[in-house]
Amino acid sequence: MVPDTNLDIADLELHDLEQALTDLGSAKFHARQIFQWVHKRGVTDFALMSDLSRELRQALAQHFTLTTPEIVKKEQSADGTTKVLLQLADGKRIESVCIPENPAGSTDPADADRLTFCLSTQVGCAMKCAFCLTGRMGIDRNLTAGEIVGQVRVLARELDALDARFTIVLMGMGEPLHNYDQTMKAIRMLADEHGLAVSPRRVTLSTVGVLPGLERLATEPLMPNLAISLHSTTEAQRDLLVPINRKYGIQELLDACRRFPLKRRERITFEYVMLKDVNDTPDDARRLVRLLNGIKAKGNLLPLNEAAGIPFERPADAAVNRFAKILADRGVTVSVRKSRGRDIRAACGQLITESSRSAAPGRRLALAMR
Ligand code: SAH
Repeated sequence: MVPDTNLDIADLELHDLEQALTDLGSAKFHARQIFQWVHKRGVTDFALMSDLSRELRQALAQHFTLTTPEIVKKEQSADGTTKVLLQLADGKRIESVCIPENPAGSTDPADADRLTFCLSTQVGCAMKCAFCLTGRMGIDRNLTAGEIVGQVRVLARELDALDARFTIVLMGMGEPLHNYDQTMKAIRMLADEHGLAVSPRRVTLSTVGVLPGLERLATEPLMPNLAISLHSTTEAQRDLLVPINRKYGIQELLDACRRFPLKRRERITFEYVMLKDVNDTPDDARRLVRLLNGIKAKGNLLPLNEAAGIPFERPADAAVNRFAKILADRGVTVSVRKSRGRDIRAACGQLITESSRSAAPGRRLALAMR
C-alpha cells in the first residue's frame, strides 16, 4: 500500500518511520538511515541522503514531506548565547536558545565543551505567570514533536555543533505538561540511538505543576529530570504569581512531588524566581525550607529578568545571596541561575515573538502584592 502523501518524516518516531517505509514497499532498514540523516546529521532534503538509491529518494520526496523550522533571525549575546526566531510550516513563530558552557573566556559556540538547548513546547503559553513575557502572548497552539525536536536539529546544524555533547531544557516558550503527548514523543525521539541519542538524564522538563500531567509523567519509562516552577511559599501569593495554583495548589503539588519516583541521588529542582520585595525576604526563605522538608529537592533561584511590561524588579545580589544562605544553612542545596543572553532577551521569561511584544504593564498587580 502506498501511504498517504504528506506524512511528515520529521514528526515520526523510528518505529513509525519503519512502518511508513514498509507501506511504501521499501526495506524497513532504510528507516534507520533516514532517521540518522534527519536527526543526527540535520539534513533537510531527501536528495542529500546519499546512501539511499535515487529511486528511494525520489519516492520519499513524492510521498512524504520533511518539515524543518526555518531560521528567520539569529542573535548572539556577548556571553556566546544564541537565540533564534524560527518560523514553522504554518507561519507561526517561536524562539529557541542555545547556551554554550564555554571554557574560560571564549564566547565562540564552536569552542563549547557542552551546549544547553532551551526548547519551546508551544507557540505562546496559557499559564500567564505574572512575571513572564511569554505568558503575555497567550496560547496559540501546541508544537508537534517534530517541531520540538526540529529546534535542536536546526540550531545544532546552524552552530555546526551536531556532534557536541548537549543538554536539553524544556524551558523555552510554553508549558510542556500542557502539551504532554508531543513533549514525551519528542523526548523519545531525542533519546533514539539512531538520532541524537540524548539520554533523558540530560533533559530537564520544567513545569508550573499541571498535576494530571505530573501524575502521568511519574509512570513514564523514559523519565527526564524534573524542575518545578514553585516561585512562592504561600497559596495566596502563588495564586497571583502562577495562576494555575488556583487549580492545583502548593500542597497538592508538593504531595505529588513527594510521591514522584526518583532514583538514588536524583532530586527534583524547585525553581524560584526572585522578585524584589515580593517573595525575597528571609521569612520567604524559611517558609521555603519548611515546604521542601521531606522532599528530595534542590533549589534554583532565578533573579528576575526584567522586561518592559513586567511589573516587578530584580532584587539586589545581596538579597539573593541572603536568601540562598538561609536555604544552604538549613541543608537545602541551592544554586543561583546565571542569566545568560539577557542582552538579546534570550534569558528565562524573555521569549516572545516580536509581533507580540507590546508593553502593557500590569503595575496594579505588583503593587497589590507588596
Ligand atoms: N512553563 C514552564 C517552562 C518555561 S519557563 C515553567 O513554567 O516551568 C522556565 C523558567 O523561567 C520557569 O521557572 C519560569 O517561571 C521562569 N521565568 C519566567 N519568566 C521569568 C523572568 N522574567 N525572569 C526569570 N525567570 C523567569
